Amino acid sequence: MADEIISAGNFIQDFIKEDIAEGGFYEGKTVHTRFPPEPNGYLHIGHAKAICIDFGTAEKFGGICNLRMDDTNPTKEDVEYIDAIKEDISWLGFHWDDRFYFASDYFEQMYEFAVELIKKGLAYVCEFTPEQMRENRGDLTTPATSPYRDRPIEESLDLFERMKNGEFEEGTKTLRAKIDLASGNFNMRDPVIYRINRIPHHRTGDKWCIYPMYDFAHPIEDALEGITHSLCTLEFEAHRPLYDWVIDNISAPCKPRQIEFSRLGINNTVMSKRKLRKLVEDGYVAGWDDPRMPTLCGLRRRGYTPASIRNFCEKIGVSKTNSVVEYSFLEHCLRDDLNENAQRVMCVLNPVKLIITNYPEDKTEEFEVENNPQKPEDGTRKITFSREVYIEADDFLEEKVKGYNRFYPGNEVRLKSAYIVKCTGCEKDENGRVTAVYAEYDPLTRGGDTPDGRKVRGTVHWVDANNYLDAEVRLYDNMFTDPEPDVGDKDFLDYINPDSLKILKNCKIETSVSGLEGIQHFQFMRLGYFCNDKDSNPERLIFNRSVSLKDGFKKK
Ligand code: ATP
Ligand code: MG
Repeated sequence: MADEIISAGNFIQDFIKEDIAEGGFYEGKTVHTRFPPEPNGYLHIGHAKAICIDFGTAEKFGGICNLRMDDTNPTKEDVEYIDAIKEDISWLGFHWDDRFYFASDYFEQMYEFAVELIKKGLAYVCEFTPEQMRENRGDLTTPATSPYRDRPIEESLDLFERMKNGEFEEGTKTLRAKIDLASGNFNMRDPVIYRINRIPHHRTGDKWCIYPMYDFAHPIEDALEGITHSLCTLEFEAHRPLYDWVIDNISAPCKPRQIEFSRLGINNTVMSKRKLRKLVEDGYVAGWDDPRMPTLCGLRRRGYTPASIRNFCEKIGVSKTNSVVEYSFLEHCLRDDLNENAQRVMCVLNPVKLIITNYPEDKTEEFEVENNPQKPEDGTRKITFSREVYIEADDFLEEKVKGYNRFYPGNEVRLKSAYIVKCTGCEKDENGRVTAVYAEYDPLTRGGDTPDGRKVRGTVHWVDANNYLDAEVRLYDNMFTDPEPDVGDKDFLDYINPDSLKILKNCKIETSVSGLEGIQHFQFMRLGYFCNDKDSNPERLIFNRSVSLKDGFKKK
């Protein structure tokens, strides 16, 4: 199976083992990681990969992992997002105990570290506007320039304090680290580490009007929390020298090591929070938790289980090359879990009545069926059978077609777990639409077995038309018609799949699904895996198809 072809080699764990074996800083230390989301949107499946790596690596080494809201940027952070992030991580089954932090809690210390750098002659106040900064950044062969680089320490200290006190306009001054204007790595060309920004912060209000840049703030956050290994995505690889520079030049209480891994991409979807927000805000989907969204709350509502997502992350492994994983592989992992664990029920999506003409009109029989053939310990339930049952409209054809083994006049078909019946014809309305199918049952085939061993090829699901519940069923397809809707200069909005949601309102389901509490997972026999939607209630049952039965994942 796919388990064998996907190798989950883990260089991160190898690096950590090396660090521990080498002694020095890491000797005797508990492995300590962190997951640092920016609270500006909901978490998606890409974040799940990072979460599994951050929390999972710590777990693996008997260590711990912090949850830290990376809220150094004062725009757009929202309590709604913070709560949702916590909920999603707990749902995946990871715990941060009491180690829940905000980067903004360290603003004071960050400021002090910046002052320390100025005092050491390692940072200076630059008066370039953003445009001037761009014009003077040089190119591969020309170093950057700044006339403010050699400004006396005292002057920078004074200006930086006045920046903090709000004496200057946005965009007129920055604090820059004094590193190397000629570096081949542009991140090292005296990067800006503080900027003026007069947007109030969701936690610190208007206490600050200068904010630290990510590359300066992040290593400090890590160091203050005693992080040993700072695991992040590949786009930060070129920032690592700056990360190390900051740690080496401030009086850091700890020396975290940054290790990068590839970002997860999945085809037929988009993954950036900005684009996902666009889908929500412009009404392309019903919300962040729309079951078509790659967000964790969307996947949860769709019927993904924590185990399936953790398994998926485990199997795709970690690597240093960004790649796009097929959506069908995610589905494959869900199917694996639900095949083991989902309760089986029968539901008819597009019903037509099957009338069994030789069955007594007032009779009802009960059949005891297994809840899950994969797990006999899940027990059995009773389903009822009577003269009229619902079958799928497309399980009947008026004429035999080669390879079609279901209902057509003269053919014998097995009603799953009940009886073998022989189709005798149908009834149609004035438009030629089939309104009922007729059949006769063989009383000697109770349970679905033929006493004489005769072959019956087709087996169909059905629901007792005298004992059922009405349900709405929602079928989903890819959100985008293009496998890579946002690659290059494509506008992902041009590739929205107009048929990504199909709502069936007249479905018939067996009564065993009454009284559902919380999200429950089912296999609707022959149709796929489903779960009750969060808007489902006893008066109005709604089910989402999580994934079809057929495995679209192909071995490469
Ligand atoms: P987005 O582009 O979706 O907004 P982000 O990187 O800005 O993502 P953060 O909230 O900053 O989102 O991410 C928190 C952590 O999750 C970071 O360590 C980041 O590297 C990681 N992460 C985000 N997206 C992915 C992804 N697609 N694959 C793996 N890790 C990811
Ligand atoms: Mg970000």
